[in-house]
Amino acid sequence: MNTFGIYLHIPFCRKKCPYCDFYSKRGNEIEYEKYTAETLKKIISWSNLCNKKVTSIYFGGGTPSVVGAERLCAMLDQIKKQFCVDENAEVTCEVNPESGKGLDFELMRKTGFNRISVGLQSADENELKALGRIHTAEEARLTAKLASQAGINNISFDLMMGIPFQTLESLKYSIDFCADCGVTHISSYLLKIEKGTKFFTLKDKLPLSDDDIQADLYLNAVDELERRGYAQYEISNFAKPGYEGKHNINYWKCGEYIGIGSSAHSFFDGKRFYYERNIQDYYDRKIVDDGTGGDSREYIMLSLRLKEGLVFSEFERRYAFPVHPATIQKIKNFAKHGFMELDSEHACFTKKGFLVSNSIISELI
Ligand code: SF4
Repeated sequence: MNTFGIYLHIPFCRKKCPYCDFYSKRGNEIEYEKYTAETLKKIISWSNLCNKKVTSIYFGGGTPSVVGAERLCAMLDQIKKQFCVDENAEVTCEVNPESGKGLDFELMRKTGFNRISVGLQSADENELKALGRIHTAEEARLTAKLASQAGINNISFDLMMGIPFQTLESLKYSIDFCADCGVTHISSYLLKIEKGTKFFTLKDKLPLSDDDIQADLYLNAVDELERRGYAQYEISNFAKPGYEGKHNINYWKCGEYIGIGSSAHSFFDGKRFYYERNIQDYYDRKIVDDGTGGDSREYIMLSLRLKEGLVFSEFERRYAFPVHPATIQKIKNFAKHGFMELDSEHACFTKKGFLVSNSIISELI
């Protein structure tokens, strides 16, 4: 039986962070209730179309935890009732540290959540302030502790690199903090200034790090994380052995997924489609056709994000033709300059290659 993942977008946050361009807004109990009720209906309508096995479920946002454990569990229960969910499915919920401490993790574990992803961003209080975050690092530690006491032991922390005022030392301190909290997984992203955010309007006044500093932060983070047993498996993701995030690996392997919620994207039966970044459009069931997906160029682009890179036998099994010799020749040239590695089975980026992967990929495909 073919498999796929389900993404549920919960578009509410207590406060908008000035760097964030995810679709989210402030909500209240009435809106949380309405959104949950609509989502329960949507889950039924999608289950009629998707008769494959679900191997991962991811509640993201926004801040899913703001709607409370009961609503999250009602949505997960509905998914389990309506879809064929694998008994070993990875079920993740994003949790913000300030809402984590009030969450009923016991109920969440009993309902089937087995992984949480906590938006720490930094363990340095000044950096948290610079990012406009409304929590402390200790609240993230407490969230991890409470989840783990309730039996949810697979815990990921998000870190950010390139925060105003961040130094190599303060990043190392944040990595130490994550390791000390005993998390199994760390996502470490470079701050990107996105159009439409408050940081974008302030970008000329912010003490942002330049490309060289960002490269130093990234390469140091990779080394420091690996030293603490977090092996890199994707450009920005690191895990203890066996704790790699299944849901996102499915994206990078060009696997299928259904996104439910405003702004959620889907790729199913070779087609891409999404809900607009607007709750009312979601309620009105407006789905935007985004064309076809999953061709060989897209597969090369996504799989090269992974540390294992492009596995030639998997590519050939999927497309019934080998990677084009001209692409292999270009990879060989990048390998000569230390940006990529290549053998008879696969091609992948080196650490320094990951830093410039976007421009290299655009030359490869
Ligand atoms: S809490 Fe997360 S989703 Fe919400 S505004 Fe901040 S970064 Fe964006």
